[in-house]
Amino acid sequence: MYTCSLERMKEKIAAFSRFGDAGHGGVTRYSLSPEAHQARDEFVRRMKALGAQIETDDMANIYATIPGSDSSLKRIVMGSHADSVRNGGNYDGILGVIGAMEVLETVRSEKIPHRHPLTAMIWTNEEGSLYPPAMMSSGVVSGKFEKAVVLSSKSMLDSSRTFADALNASPYKGSESSRLSADKYAAMFELHIEQGPILEAEKKDIGVVTCVIGMVNYRIKTYGQAGHAGTTPMKYRKDALYAATKILMFLCEKLDKLDPELVYTTGELKVHPCVHTVIPDEAEFSLDARHEKPEVVRQVVDVIQSIPPEVAGCRTEYKPAWSRDSVYFDRKLVGFVQQSADELGISNMTINSGAGHDAQFCSYIIPSTMIFVPSRGGHSHCEIEFTPPEQCTAGADVMLNAVLKADNT
Ligand SMILES: [Zn+2]
Repeated sequence: MYTCSLERMKEKIAAFSRFGDAGHGGVTRYSLSPEAHQARDEFVRRMKALGAQIETDDMANIYATIPGSDSSLKRIVMGSHADSVRNGGNYDGILGVIGAMEVLETVRSEKIPHRHPLTAMIWTNEEGSLYPPAMMSSGVVSGKFEKAVVLSSKSMLDSSRTFADALNASPYKGSESSRLSADKYAAMFELHIEQGPILEAEKKDIGVVTCVIGMVNYRIKTYGQAGHAGTTPMKYRKDALYAATKILMFLCEKLDKLDPELVYTTGELKVHPCVHTVIPDEAEFSLDARHEKPEVVRQVVDVIQSIPPEVAGCRTEYKPAWSRDSVYFDRKLVGFVQQSADELGISNMTINSGAGHDAQFCSYIIPSTMIFVPSRGGHSHCEIEFTPPEQCTAGADVMLNAVLKADNT
């Protein structure tokens, strides 16, 4: 078994935490921003120093490749994203890039024999924080998103700027022929922080990820009648927010009776006219529900469809906003991750991902899988996001050995 270097991992985590350092423990590093370009420049500088060949595709994804002993074989790729949310942490995404770099550095420094070319990569705009949607480039490369549509995505900070403007201004915009594709790539591994509390609670250092769970997202609306907050007796009201609250309580009560692994969230609530002296005439809220099993997701939809057409005198309406099916990772690669963790003597458990990741879209193109490391306190998308360097290195160790197992097939 081969292992990576804890000291090199610590150095890289500290080095990349400087790009977009927001001054209080985390980073703001929007995709294709000057800060993200600093991180990309550093990635390229370090990979070139290893002798890697650098390519970029039309979505500015970067690929750094070292040759294997058999040039006729396809590449094995490892990578994640280098962009962050606003005031995000030092691990989400970038750890997968750092881990990929560390694997290549270890292969070179230990002179580990391998047949396939090995590639470390950065996916562009996974977070979609400045230019939605999330997982933009893996969505385009996998054919799940239309390129023309995402190019017209407007900046959340300046609606006169589009993603196409940012892409055209980037020195990393390359050609479509360099994209990750099934004819050039054999397998993909993404190391990532869990972003939840399970591994820490179970005292495991590694999550062997088996799937990204399916989800539905609905918009639920109520229509009432606006009126004066002081002069309209309760029995004459058609209060849209009152009705929405009743529906939400109805949903919670029913959903709580479904499978205990179901997670659901109302993260958005809009009220019109949103004036403290006016009875609301319209209310709208979101419902996001996730579960691995399609039958449980179906039960959620049945519950939503049982919302009465009228509640507290208000008309109700619901419609699906978007959904995705559970995406299962490649069994063979999942097995390599599991075996590697076991053989290294690293505590591990199988886990699924409630969040979307580039590897999920990538799995539509080539066999793909993910490796999770614990998130302290379950925190992510915030500045206190933290994974001890020992666990980050354990993740890189598992990835290195899983890649070498894939190299042998
Ligand atoms: Zn991420």
